[in-house]
Amino acid sequence: PPTFSHEFTGALFQGKTSFSTGLFIDGEFRVGSEGKTIDVINPSTGAVLTTIAEGAKPDVDAAVKAAQTAFDTTWGLNCPAAERAELIGKLARLMERDTDELSAIEALDNGKTFTWARDVDITFAIQTFKYYAGWADKLTGQVLETDERKLVYTRHEPIGVVGQIIPWNFPLLMFAWKVAPALATGNTIVLKPSEFTPLTALRMCALIQEAGFPKGVVNVVVGYGPIVGQAIAEHMDIQKLAFTGSTLVGRKVMAAAAASNLKNVTLELGGKSPNIVFDDADLEQAVNWAAHGIFWNHGQACCAGSRIYVQAGIYDEFLAALTEKTLGIKVGDPFAEGVDQGPQVSQLQYDRIMGYIDAGKKEGATLHTGGSRHGTEGYFIQPTIFTDTKPNMRIVQEEIFGPVGVVIKFTDEADVIRQANDTMYGLAAAVFSQDINRALTTAHKLQAGTAWVNCFNQLHANVPFGGFKQSGIGRELGEYALHNYTNVKAVHVNLGHRM
Ligand code: NAD
Repeated sequence: PPTFSHEFTGALFQGKTSFSTGLFIDGEFRVGSEGKTIDVINPSTGAVLTTIAEGAKPDVDAAVKAAQTAFDTTWGLNCPAAERAELIGKLARLMERDTDELSAIEALDNGKTFTWARDVDITFAIQTFKYYAGWADKLTGQVLETDERKLVYTRHEPIGVVGQIIPWNFPLLMFAWKVAPALATGNTIVLKPSEFTPLTALRMCALIQEAGFPKGVVNVVVGYGPIVGQAIAEHMDIQKLAFTGSTLVGRKVMAAAAASNLKNVTLELGGKSPNIVFDDADLEQAVNWAAHGIFWNHGQACCAGSRIYVQAGIYDEFLAALTEKTLGIKVGDPFAEGVDQGPQVSQLQYDRIMGYIDAGKKEGATLHTGGSRHGTEGYFIQPTIFTDTKPNMRIVQEEIFGPVGVVIKFTDEADVIRQANDTMYGLAAAVFSQDINRALTTAHKLQAGTAWVNCFNQLHANVPFGGFKQSGIGRELGEYALHNYTNVKAVHVNLGHRM
């Protein structure tokens, strides 16, 4: 297939960039099999930023073939673990070199601020690659005691070609969470970024080339979910699927995996995370963390603390302080000094969030602050707080994925735990209290894959992350994620047991 001729070339914040925006298959940037393209929009202005190649099913087939060949020849069991570690480490060092460029591309494409992109997304993505580079040559099986006439041991073997589908809210970070553990364990990859935010994944492909990974080890096919995503989910030669995105689509890819070759599936899905603030909390800190909990990344975080439960004794004081903090959030150009919040990612998300704000008003909640568009162009929304909600309202039950929180008054400890758990989700939860017994007892009763005590949105490469209930299946990060990408083989060796 011909090379894709278009490059994204642009002046960036304190620098410039230039890289191909083709499909990355078998180590080269190509045109899509149908010759189509997708326009990438800058959410700060609504203008077209650049054009990328659009993939389709034949491109997924070509990517799977390249990945299988790489697995059978240059990667997996054919590549010493220390060499995999070296290459992953080299990729991390190239990312460090290009931190500002990657951060600026992310800010342009996604709308998050340059500062947050640099200090969180890119920094954490580098940390993730370094962390898994360290694991590559430390994977061990077990020797199991059974019978003196037998030697039994396990091998943790790579699975083969893995399919990975990621969302738009943390484009490069989700790329790292998926790609790093899969490479460390020796798998080859066909990955689909979100069609809304494909640019950092494509820039990473150029770094993967530069680092010297064998061709076909990582393939990136950008395209639409129902076409490229579906083709990955139902591919007969992909043995494992890792998906991050909405619960709705998670259900679809799991069904496609079951209907095709029963590929192993891990899912990281949505959330509606509760944040419980007791009377005895450090009020100033609770307010700071609660604001960070809901408004970080413009509310576009799967673990966003969107339901804030505050005990009656401090409710008024807490709400006043949170309101002041919320009004102090500076919304605007992601590259401007002092800006905390950029635009939402797309017109589609903007419309969805404004729809939820309308629903909240119609269902009778009080719009306490915010609730409107910010500015005249792009997809900016004011940080918004609702009060006087009822448990069955849509803004209390559904994931809004925008800068919209609800603050709910409670009195009784048992009742707030019941309310906090009254959701189909179970991704994260937080509790604020200076009483260690109360804080930990509550943390243990919350149905969530992550429980934060006196903090929010804390994540680390060494710590597993994932959901209870309909927030997902499996865990990413930490040693736990290695299990997603290995098959355990038990080997029984006869040392003299005669039949
Ligand atoms: P989405 O489910 O719409 O899309 C996710 C990915 O799936 C995209 O690449 C999309 O193109 C693809 N897709 C869409 N339809 C598909 C189909 N039929 N078959 C296969 N693939 C398909 O989600 P989004 O809007 O990109 O992201 C927001 C969601 O992601 C939120 O619900 C959020 O909570 C969740 N999320 C979860 C985590 C986590 O770790 N739990 C992290 C980030 C985001």
